[in-house]
Amino acid sequence: MRDIVRGQVFLPGDDGFDRAAAPWAIGVRQPVVAVAEVADAADVVALVRYARQAGLTVTAQPSGHGASGDVDGTILVRTARLDEITVDPAGRVVRAGAGARWGQVLAATGKHGLTGLAGSSPVVSVAGFVAGGGVSWFGRAYGWAADSVRAFEIVDAAGEQVRVTAGSDADLFWALRGGGGDYGIITAVELDLYEVPGLYGGRVVWPAERTGEVFEAFRAITADAPRELSLWLNRTAPPPPAPATVGIDVTFLGGAAEAEDLLAPLAAIGGSLSDSRGPMDVADLGAIAAEPVDPSPMLARTELLTALPVDVLADADLAPLLNLQIRHLGGALAEARPDGGPGGALGEPYLLYLLGLRLPHLAEAVQAKQAALVAQLGEAVSGRKPYTFLAPGESATQAFPAEVRARLERIKRERDPGGVIRANFPITS
Ligand SMILES: Cc1cc2nc3c(=O)[nH]c(=O)nc-3n(C[C@H](O)[C@H](O)[C@H](O)COP(=O)(O)OP(=O)(O)OC[C@H]3O[C@@H](n4cnc5c(N)ncnc54)[C@H](O)[C@@H]3O)c2cc1C
Repeated sequence: MRDIVRGQVFLPGDDGFDRAAAPWAIGVRQPVVAVAEVADAADVVALVRYARQAGLTVTAQPSGHGASGDVDGTILVRTARLDEITVDPAGRVVRAGAGARWGQVLAATGKHGLTGLAGSSPVVSVAGFVAGGGVSWFGRAYGWAADSVRAFEIVDAAGEQVRVTAGSDADLFWALRGGGGDYGIITAVELDLYEVPGLYGGRVVWPAERTGEVFEAFRAITADAPRELSLWLNRTAPPPPAPATVGIDVTFLGGAAEAEDLLAPLAAIGGSLSDSRGPMDVADLGAIAAEPVDPSPMLARTELLTALPVDVLADADLAPLLNLQIRHLGGALAEARPDGGPGGALGEPYLLYLLGLRLPHLAEAVQAKQAALVAQLGEAVSGRKPYTFLAPGESATQAFPAEVRARLERIKRERDPGGVIRANFPITS
């Protein structure tokens, strides 16, 4: 491998192997056979051809935010060096290398008053995000991030470099737009950009005693929110003596006055502890949720909700969880685009995210609490999960309806019969 790759290759036993093989998601074990920090797309070609001959598999993992641990016998391809970003403001498109992270891309597009469909974290890779569909802050306005991809540059399972568009290869383009990382190693993506007519956003936090009022306001605002407005509710339960809180994260594609009008029910709740809301730059989007950027032992479980059972969500004791988050979905996410990818219509109006820590003394209790809360929510839990929110132990089968899965499986069998390329949550196991 060292002879055919210009970048750096780490094998078990090498100095630096453990560091190179460790994912962002601390605590997820990765028994890989090698890690290759590729220098360019030609390195990816060489690795895929090598893996084919050696009977190995190849998995792209820019960072390991979505590490599943399902990498036994795999060559891990680190794409951090493929980080070039080119914005074409007139054409409303950005080309981002497979190592580019959302924060870097938004910093480049924001200068032109444009945005891509980023999620909450500035350090998640654009390629990994769109490979799984991608639920963006602006998904209510524009749908899945993957449906805004114009072209993928990939190395396919035969080891060929190909630019895939709707016109060049409709089946493969469809699968790449959110079917997971099973259909090629992406080396760059071209994404549609959208005009930012103004961006208002931030976080407001109250003491936990205000939970009932905040839920009531959240329900009222989300009942008829315009697509430009996205609200997420957070209940935090930090270890004592830190106080529990309740808060709202918000973005609005438009002016501050209109946003404040729409958010009037929040203004009626007194006693906030902090309030960062105001006009902001798209480059600062990641500051709203302020998620950890350094490797973290996050242990999350995500569910889609068909309703908002406030009695459970507002009243349940959360410990040992740290956070319960509810994201308002709907809008364009709920409508399948005729030319869109496997995500289709995401009909559930809310996404529930239950967060604890993957620490040896806590993990079991965290998972038990997550399971207990989900059981209490009963029929409000739809059973489907967005692919990017799958967690270790879960499966791609939970992300797609049966007929979509069947099409993805067929395309995988046709394009990669030897199973050379492997996603974190493979479509066929
Ligand atoms: C703090 C945090 C916040 C998040 N917020 C959101 C959010 O708002 N919305 C949302 O939808 N998701 C969110 N996620 C989930 C995240 O989008 C997924 O975990 C995503 O897969 C991470 O991509 P990555 O490349 O950074 O991670 P990695 O773990 O490095 O990659 C994940 C998988 O993506 C595929 N992949 C990555 N790069 C390539 C490539 N070049 N070619 C082919 N396949 C590739 C591979 O199958 C890989 O195993 C969040 C995750 C975290 C940890």
